[in-house]
Amino acid sequence: MRQFELSLLPWNVVFGAGSLSSLPARMDALGFSRALVLSTPQQSDSAERVAELLGPRACGTFTAARMHVPATTAAAASARARELGSDCSVSIGGGSTTGLGKALALDPGIPLIAIPTTYAGSEMTNIWGMTEDGRKRTGRDSKVLPVLTLYDAELTLGLPLSVAGPSAMNALAQATINAKDTRTNPVLMNLALEAIGAIADGLPRIMCNPDDIEAREQVLYGASLAGAALGAGVTSLHHRLCHTLGGSFATPHAETHTILLPYSVAYAAPAVPHLMKNIAAALGSAEAAGGIYDLATSAGLKTSLADIGITADDLERIADIATETDVPNPQPVSRAGVVGLLEQALAGKRP
Ligand code: NAD
Repeated sequence: MRQFELSLLPWNVVFGAGSLSSLPARMDALGFSRALVLSTPQQSDSAERVAELLGPRACGTFTAARMHVPATTAAAASARARELGSDCSVSIGGGSTTGLGKALALDPGIPLIAIPTTYAGSEMTNIWGMTEDGRKRTGRDSKVLPVLTLYDAELTLGLPLSVAGPSAMNALAQATINAKDTRTNPVLMNLALEAIGAIADGLPRIMCNPDDIEAREQVLYGASLAGAALGAGVTSLHHRLCHTLGGSFATPHAETHTILLPYSVAYAAPAVPHLMKNIAAALGSAEAAGGIYDLATSAGLKTSLADIGITADDLERIADIATETDVPNPQPVSRAGVVGLLEQALAGKRP
C-alpha cells in the first residue's frame, strides 16, 4: 500500500552552462530594478562582473560575506541595502554568500536571486542561519527561499578542488539523510537518489580533471537536487553533530560533513536496511556507509575527526551537547551510541 503526503517548496530554477547572461532579462521579468550584488571578499571580481552585466539594474555591491553569516555582517549589508534603496539582492558564491542573501530576505525583507558557485545547496532550502556571540541560530522561513536560482556550471570551474570535494560531500549528506522510504515519500526518495548518483558519478571525474565542465555540471545538478531534498525534508543526528562541531569547536563546515557522513549512515543502517540498499545502488557500491567512505578517500578527502583538530578528550563533551535535546533519527539516539559513532569517526577507518 502506498500512502504519502507531499509538500514541496516553490523553487524557481534555471539550470545551464552560460545561463548567467540571461540574468538581466530574468530580473526584469521578476520586476526588480535595484539589485545589491553580494559576494565574499575572495569573489569580489565575480560580484563586479555581475554588477557590470546588470548595468543600471545594480545599485551597488557588498563584498564582505563571511562563513556562518555573522550578525554584524548581516546588519552592515542590511544598512547598505536600505541606504541604496535595493529592491532585491543577487548573491554570487557559496553557502556563505547565499546565507547573507537569506539574512537580507529576513531584514530588510528584500527577495534573493541566488547564483551558486559551490555545491552547498543552500539556495534550494528555506533554512537560514546567523551567528552571534559564538552561537549559530538557524530556522526555517519561506521568505528566505530565493525567488530565482540560476545555476551556471561555468562559474564553478574556478572552484579549487580543496573546496569542491568537501562541498560535494556536504551535498551528498543532504541527499543521503533525506533518502526516505519509497512508499511513504517517493518524490523525496527519488530526488535524493538521483542526487547521490550524480554526485558519485561527477566527483571523481572533477578530482581527475578540474576543467571537465560536464563533470562540474553533473555535481552541480546533484547538489541542486540534494539541496531540494533537504529543503523539502529534514535534518537528523548527522546535522546535529555537524552543527555541534562547527558551533562549539569551530570545525570547517563541509569537511565536518565529509568526515562524519559514513559513520552517521552506519549508525542509522540497522534501522533502515532497505534504504541502505537503495543508497548503495545509487552510489554504485556494495554498501552505503562503506561506499560513501570510498568516495571520500578516492577523492583524497579527510576521513578522521583528528584531521580537523578533534581529540579523544573532546568526544564526551560533543556527545553531551549533541544529545542535550531530542533529535529525530531512523536509529534512536543514545549518548553512548553517539560516543561510539564519534570514536569511529576519530579513528577514521572504513565503517
Ligand atoms: P563558502 O560559501 O564559505 O565558500 C568557501 C570559499 O570558496 C569562499 O572564500 C568563497 O568565496 C570561495 N568560492 C566559492 N565559489 C567559488 C568559485 N566558484 N571559485 C572560486 N572560489 C569560490 O562555502 P560553502 O561550503 O559553499 O558554504 C558553507 C556555508 O553554507 C556554511 O555556513 C553552511 O552553514 C551554509 N549552508 C547552509 C545551508 C542552508 O540550507 N541554509 C546548506 C548548506 C550550507
